[in-house]
Amino acid sequence: MKITNKHNVPETLVALASREYYSKGKSDYSVTEIISPPRIQRLRRKHHDEMEQDVSEMLWSLLGSALHVVAERGQHEGYTTEERLYAEIDGVILSGAIDIQKSTPEGILITDYKFTSAWALRQDKFEWEAQQNIYAWLVQTAKKTPVVGVQICALIRDWSRREAAVKADYPQAPIQVIDLPLWDIDRTATYITERLNAHRESKVAADWETELPFCTEDERWMRETQYAVKREGRKTAIRVFDNEQEAKDLAEKEKGFVEIRKGEAIRCTGNFCGVNQWCSQYQASLKEQAE
Ligand code: SF4
Repeated sequence: MKITNKHNVPETLVALASREYYSKGKSDYSVTEIISPPRIQRLRRKHHDEMEQDVSEMLWSLLGSALHVVAERGQHEGYTTEERLYAEIDGVILSGAIDIQKSTPEGILITDYKFTSAWALRQDKFEWEAQQNIYAWLVQTAKKTPVVGVQICALIRDWSRREAAVKADYPQAPIQVIDLPLWDIDRTATYITERLNAHRESKVAADWETELPFCTEDERWMRETQYAVKREGRKTAIRVFDNEQEAKDLAEKEKGFVEIRKGEAIRCTGNFCGVNQWCSQYQASLKEQAE
């Protein structure tokens, strides 16, 4: 991938961005790799040399890498940080690096750091849940130790004190620890096998256009259509609803109007996957919208 420097930032940052931080150790697959959609993985591999990203857009991924280095230094009794574990499943070696493991008398509590936005934090994040549960499977399989819980420590990059003061469902601090559901180990093993199969099949798919599995709505980070109640002369919405009828009712009461904010697949439209220009699924959805 070519890294550009359109805003003339110090070359040291470009050098940092150009370094490969991602490693799966001596394994066939990493946890991050198998939870990622096969379509994205395959398109990235195919177009790696053509892909281009400006260093100014890589700030959060750079800080994500930096956080792992810093996290390693945060040593504390009873905690293991940044440990990579390996285990065999279905004939392949799977590995994952776990940010924090806290030892308790009943077993290990797993925590992963995530840089995220306040909006993303309020959505269901199945990928986070799946990732943490695969880590739990790794701990139970590789260390033969029970896991008592999985959680994420979210670092909210766009946190606003003002929003926190006025919105009850807004995160109340820029760092939030969130407990995720802990799956039964058999369910996790089945999920891992399904993901491995999806990636294996996509590797042997001969026809790009027809055989590559589509990204799901979850994987495309689909944001639902919203209905904002507004009034002439007021810049911000009085309230935003997921339900159209509720918005219409309030608009009538407030003598205002409803503005429809159409839903969109954030990962595709924002090109967070980095491959939207080569993706037939996304290009087809653009064509459909235009028609
Ligand atoms: S553009 Fe959308 S559908 Fe295509 S690979 Fe990226 S996330 Fe998946």
